[in-house]
Amino acid sequence: MKSVDKGFVYQVGAGPGSADLITVRGAEVLRRADCIIYDKLANPALLRFARADAEIIHVPKRTGGSSVTQEEINKLLIEKTSGGRIVVRLKGGDPCIFGRCAEELAVLIEHGIGFEIVPGITAGIAVASYAGIMLTDREYSSQVVFVTGQETQGKQKTNIDWHLLAKFSGTIVFYMGIGNLDYIAERLMENGMGADTPAAVIADATFPTQRVVKAALDDISEECKQQGIEPPAIVVIGAATGSNTSLNWFMKKPLFSKNIVVTRDTAGNVDFAAKIIRRGGNPLKFTTIKIKSLTETNEFLCTLAKITEYDWIIFTSGNGVTIFFEALQDFGKDARVFGSAKIAAIGGKTAAKLSEFGIKADFVPGVFTSKELGRQLIAYTNLHGKKILLLRSKIASNELAELLEKSGAEVQDVAVYTAVEEKSQSAWLIEEINKGRIDWLTFASPSSVNGFFEQIGSDVVNSGNVKVASIGPVTSERLKTLGLRVDITAADHTLDGLLDAIEKSEKL
Ligand code: SAH
Repeated sequence: MKSVDKGFVYQVGAGPGSADLITVRGAEVLRRADCIIYDKLANPALLRFARADAEIIHVPKRTGGSSVTQEEINKLLIEKTSGGRIVVRLKGGDPCIFGRCAEELAVLIEHGIGFEIVPGITAGIAVASYAGIMLTDREYSSQVVFVTGQETQGKQKTNIDWHLLAKFSGTIVFYMGIGNLDYIAERLMENGMGADTPAAVIADATFPTQRVVKAALDDISEECKQQGIEPPAIVVIGAATGSNTSLNWFMKKPLFSKNIVVTRDTAGNVDFAAKIIRRGGNPLKFTTIKIKSLTETNEFLCTLAKITEYDWIIFTSGNGVTIFFEALQDFGKDARVFGSAKIAAIGGKTAAKLSEFGIKADFVPGVFTSKELGRQLIAYTNLHGKKILLLRSKIASNELAELLEKSGAEVQDVAVYTAVEEKSQSAWLIEEINKGRIDWLTFASPSSVNGFFEQIGSDVVNSGNVKVASIGPVTSERLKTLGLRVDITAADHTLDGLLDAIEKSEKL
């Protein structure tokens, strides 16, 4: 029970890494938190669930986690719950697995502060799933043990029963073991475990940077050193690690580990990055443009006043929809302003955005270019003498308006937003491209092409190993005008279509 004065603490497991591996309950309490205190291993991307006014405190522990730091965290928990505040203590994996949860709970109990534990997927379980290693199998492993690999070195009296572990006939999972791997392997072999026992180390599990090293016990440490494996990593020992490599589904994703630069506006990049992560790729965000609303212009305000006069209203982007409805809201209005007008959307994404505001588009063409929208709309209905309103970007091409006018419609093209160039830190990206570490540069609009090449010379891209992918013909044209080599142009002019085209090219 939450006590109003004392506040409340949720000990929440953030999951093993990738931000979509938190539990539904975990995300729910993050949304409610007044204050979030998060660890080094909790993915900061999870803070997107936080309220805009939530206080966010990062508490990375020093290696070895000195008691002072833990004391500071304990103090913070007490301090931040005062006044009845809700605190989320967000920890990597599960809060109760090597998470010092009990120490923090003891302090809460001592101060009469209520708490709840929201479990998370612990790294030991996740590494196995994401590397296709079956921790249990009725053929060869009927038991699993989780062990800390950090307690071992230099301790006079250890809690680890090496003798028992060496004889253990199931799977042994060491957390925090990579720095002590020599020592761990030696202790096990010294106590009778076979030098040829299969072992695996999985680093950065669930991320596009995930790595797996497999070797025999007497070799695994050397192999990891040679391959430059770094924490966080889990060491798995036992027959389970010898299992079928065809089960390693995650690292077989077509975009796995591909470094893909996204070049939209800030919100657009977040959206696109999430799609890339879902396909196993590593998105690198480079902001090129800022979307600027134009809904305070006279033109827009006059249009809004007579919006019921139109027969068709056409939206050609999700941005247009969002900005239009935000303006409606500011004026205290809602979708009823459309009256009996029919609504067209350029593609599935724009249509989906409309449906978020309660509008089901009357017409959505199969191919997502404005030219196609025009052609198909003309084929769909007689536009002669009809009044059409285009609510779109200021920098959109005239093609659509001209096409509709030719069919006898009266067209009004009203800008609801524009894209202005935005500067980003570019030195790091130039260096990455020069070093050949970027696989793809993606462009989803001509304005992001402009914004990008304002900051990065076309020669950097042309002389590098990096490939260039464009969402459609208009964007490709812009790239070519700037002298760029365009490696692929998506057949389906959506972000998913763009990623499909990259996947296809990677498979060749
Ligand atoms: N409470 C956490 C564990 C904290 S101890 C949990 O339940 O997962 C920290 C150790 O977890 C690291 O040293 C490493 O062994 C492991 N770990 C955490 N995230 C990992 C990841 N993404 N990949 C591999 N190991 C990870």
